[in-house]
Amino acid sequence: MKETRIVKVNPDSPDIHEIRQAASIIRNGGLVAFPTETVYGLGADGLREDTVNKIFIAKGRPQDNPLILHVSSPDDISQVATCISPVVDKLVEGFWPGPLTLVLPKKPHVPDVVSGGLPTIGVRMPDNLIALTLIAESGTLLAAPSANLSGRPSPTQASHVVDDMWGRIDLVLDGGPTRLGVESTVLDLTQDPPLILRPGSVTREELEDVVGVVNSLAEKNEERPSSGKTLPAAKYPHYILDTPLFLFEGEPQAVIKRIQEEAEKLRERSKKVGIISSLENKEQYLDYADVVEVVGSRYDMTKVAASLYSTLREVEAHKVHVLLAEGFSDRGLGFAVMNRLREAARGRVIHV
Ligand code: AMP
Ligand code: MG
Repeated sequence: MKETRIVKVNPDSPDIHEIRQAASIIRNGGLVAFPTETVYGLGADGLREDTVNKIFIAKGRPQDNPLILHVSSPDDISQVATCISPVVDKLVEGFWPGPLTLVLPKKPHVPDVVSGGLPTIGVRMPDNLIALTLIAESGTLLAAPSANLSGRPSPTQASHVVDDMWGRIDLVLDGGPTRLGVESTVLDLTQDPPLILRPGSVTREELEDVVGVVNSLAEKNEERPSSGKTLPAAKYPHYILDTPLFLFEGEPQAVIKRIQEEAEKLRERSKKVGIISSLENKEQYLDYADVVEVVGSRYDMTKVAASLYSTLREVEAHKVHVLLAEGFSDRGLGFAVMNRLREAARGRVIHV
């Protein structure tokens, strides 16, 4: 058991002394959780096998689930990857710093443990001043998966990191809630056309505007592929809730009616029911559930994405027996949100 320190840092003007202390922990082989614009990351020196191994142990993460290397400048890509083509330049120009991870052929000196044994490496430059300063001051690249126990929802505030990682890591830099809330889009550039391995805040439409046709591993209204393709993004769900979650997709009025009916049936069987609702529909469920959590307005997917993980953690804390969740439109950012909800549902998707 380690003693975990928590330090508050102003995200707009981080105290350089605090960041340098954090950087010295990284240089000495320690683990530091820090905010990015997507979720909190769990950082270690990404070019050392021993430190990267510590990440896997602290999270309980399967060894073949690759980590993303975080850089503080686009120039750092060439340290760890090859085949930096004009397409890469365009994507960097268009989306960095930001929630886009580029998967490229890996240089041999990057330890295999970082990429889960794959010959490729994921690289990203986060859009958060605390993160960028920490990476630059550490003088290395940071391997940084989300700072949650493997299988838990990603942390979007420091308290989530503390709940999962207390005693397992050296330091948490608390920079307040993260802005975007869903993880980065992972784009494999070793395929032609490029392939989205994981949908995220940068949408397929936005990518296609910059580089032309892009394919996606996750299709609309489709569950995770259970066999065949074994790319890491498809193999490991983002989280497994303690409570079974049923996701209802379809025409909004029909979804409301069906959730009410299912909730009623469950409560007749003395089950405690939680409902994850859009802001617009909350009133419709109050008489049907033990807990109703609002994830945001269906007309503001940015808010829904930002609060999705904290809503899941909150509703789980009520210890209901079953969770019923409204689906959202697959359009734009909605696709990343629905990808996470479908993963949480683990096949329990009801098309109304
Ligand atoms: P996390 O940082 O916890 O969001 O996890 C990183 C995710 O990025 C992995 O689970 C993979 O889905 C994806 N990823 C990272 N590097 C690669 C890679 N080299 N090839 C394929 N997927 C990758
Ligand atoms: Mg993760």
